[in-house]
Order: sequence, then structure tokens, then C-alpha cells
Amino acid sequence: MLLQLKDVFLGDGERLEVSYSLPMSDIDIRGDYPFKSPVSVTASAVNRAGLVELKVKAVFDYTTRCDRCFDEIVKHMDYTFTHGLASSLIDEENDDYIETPDFTLELDEVVISDILLNLPGKILCREDCRGLCPECGANLNSEPCSCGKHAVDSRLEVLKQLLKDS
Ligand SMILES: [Zn+2]
Ligand SMILES: [Zn+2]
Repeated sequence: MLLQLKDVFLGDGERLEVSYSLPMSDIDIRGDYPFKSPVSVTASAVNRAGLVELKVKAVFDYTTRCDRCFDEIVKHMDYTFTHGLASSLIDEENDDYIETPDFTLELDEVVISDILLNLPGKILCREDCRGLCPECGANLNSEPCSCGKHAVDSRLEVLKQLLKDS
């Protein structure tokens, strides 16, 4: 969505608000398409004493795989981002500012890059995910391990105990 921000830039106290759905289903992250449903975007640009601040709220479901057991999980995400907008570049060192030389801003690009930069690198299906058996690949959250490498633990303990007692 292209924001026309001339009125906001030129009038102290002026604001522009938009809310819309942004489809991101064609965004490919390492071969996966994690944005199955559109991202709900609410944004406002407000001129406060000559400084224009853009606030973006992005709410979406993120479909990914658990980093440990590879089960598919859907995480509900709720992000808020803020940026200063500048009609000319104020400070080259400060890239928090987005330059809007012709008073227009392609909001989709901002939202997409904000989301992609803030996605967590690793997500677990649950805090205590037990992952996969490194030997047989069994998902240790849901099935006993068939190779025995993990299931024997308790029997081994008994055996050790017996050896110790004898
Ligand atoms: Zn898991
Ligand atoms: Zn196993």
C-alpha cells in the first residue's frame, strides 16, 4: 500500500491511519512458505512538532517447524514497529529513519522487511520438547524410541543399581 504523506508532513498534529490485510504467502524462507494467511497490518503516521513517526502493528500466524523435533507448529505473532520518517536524510548514521523524499511510502516493503528481520531464528513446539532420537529418528515427545537407545535408560538404571548392591 502506497501512503501519501504530504498532508502529514506539512501539518503539525496531522495523522494518517490505515489498516489492511497484506498477503505474504509467496514469501519463501529456506524453502518453506510460513505465512499461510494474510498479515493483518495497522499503521499510523503522526506528525508531532514536525517529526513524523510511523507506527506499524503486524499480527499474523507463522507456520514453521520445531527446531528440535521438526513438528509443524503455528505461532501467533504480534509485532509493533516504529520508525521516524524524514523527507530528507537527517543523519546518515541513523538508519532508524526511513527517507520519504516525495512524501510517499511503500508501506508493504517496510512491513515485510520489519517482519523478516524480527522473526525468531529458532522456535520450539514447547519449552521441554524432547526432540528426535539421534539413532532412530523417533519423535521422543510422542513415541517410545524403537532403537532402544533412549528407552533402556530406566532398565539400565536398575542394572547399575543391582551391580552396585552386589
Ligand atoms: Zn518439538
Ligand atoms: Zn532411538
